[in-house]
Amino acid sequence: MKLTANKISKWFLRERGGSNKFFALGENDFSLNEGELVVLYGQSGSGKSTLLNILTGLLTPSTGTVVVGDTDLHKLDDVSLSKFRNKHFGIVLQGQSAINTLTVLENVLLPYNLYGNGAKDKEELRKAQERAKALLKETGIEELASVMPTELSGGELRRMAISRALINEPEFILADEPTSDLDDENTETVLKIFKRLAESGKSVLVITHDKDVFKYADKIFEMKLGIILDKDKILG
Ligand code: ADP
Ligand code: MG
Repeated sequence: MKLTANKISKWFLRERGGSNKFFALGENDFSLNEGELVVLYGQSGSGKSTLLNILTGLLTPSTGTVVVGDTDLHKLDDVSLSKFRNKHFGIVLQGQSAINTLTVLENVLLPYNLYGNGAKDKEELRKAQERAKALLKETGIEELASVMPTELSGGELRRMAISRALINEPEFILADEPTSDLDDENTETVLKIFKRLAESGKSVLVITHDKDVFKYADKIFEMKLGIILDKDKILG
C-alpha cells in the first residue's frame, strides 16, 4: 500500500479564543512507498511530530488529504479510523507511552486486543502472544515480559513501545524519535529491525535528531519551519 498526503497543513491558534493562526505545518505533499525507509530530521519545533500525527490520523489537518491505499483517512468516522490505524499503522510516539497497570507483555498486546480480528479466537490469541514474545526477544527485552513498566529503564520502555507498534504486523511503521533513549547497540538493533521491515516491503518513516540514522535511509528529508525539504535536491 502507498500513503499519499496532498497539500496538508496545520495551524493552531496562538492564544485560546484568539484569531492569530500559527502554521505548525505549512502546505506539504508527502508520500511513503512500499519497501522504503524514509528519514525525516529537523530542529525541535519544526513540525515533525505534527506531520506524523496527521499522517496517522491522530490529528486532523487544516487543509489537504491523506490517502492510504484507496482510503481517505480523514474521511473515516472515529471508530473506523481507530480500527484502520491499529491494523495498518505501527506508531511509536515521541515520549513514553506505557500503561503502567499492565505488564510489558500486556502492553505489547494492547493494539492486538483492542483491534485484532481474532481477539475471541484462542488460536489467534496464542499466535499474537507468540508474536509479542518474539518481538520482545528481537528488541532484547524478552526476560521483562511479565514485569511492570514502572520497573523498566527509559531504553527498555522505548523497546517495549517499538514491540507494541509491530504487534499487528502493520504495513506502515511511523516512529517519532524511536532511538532517543537508546544506547548505540540498541539503536542499531532497532534500526536494523526497521530496515529489515522496509526490505520486506513495509513502509517506514523514522523521525530523528540523530544523523547516524541516515545510513539506513532510502530517502532523507529535512523539515524546516513546517516545510519538508528534499535533502537530495538541496545537495543537488
Ligand atoms: P517537532 O516535532 O519538529 O519538534 P512539533 O510538530 O511538535 O515539532 O511542533 C511544531 C510547532 O507547532 C511547535 O512550535 C509547537 O509548539 C506547535 N504545536 C504543536 N502542537 C500544538 C498544539 N496542539 N497547539 C499549539 N501549538 C502546537
Ligand atoms: Mg517532535
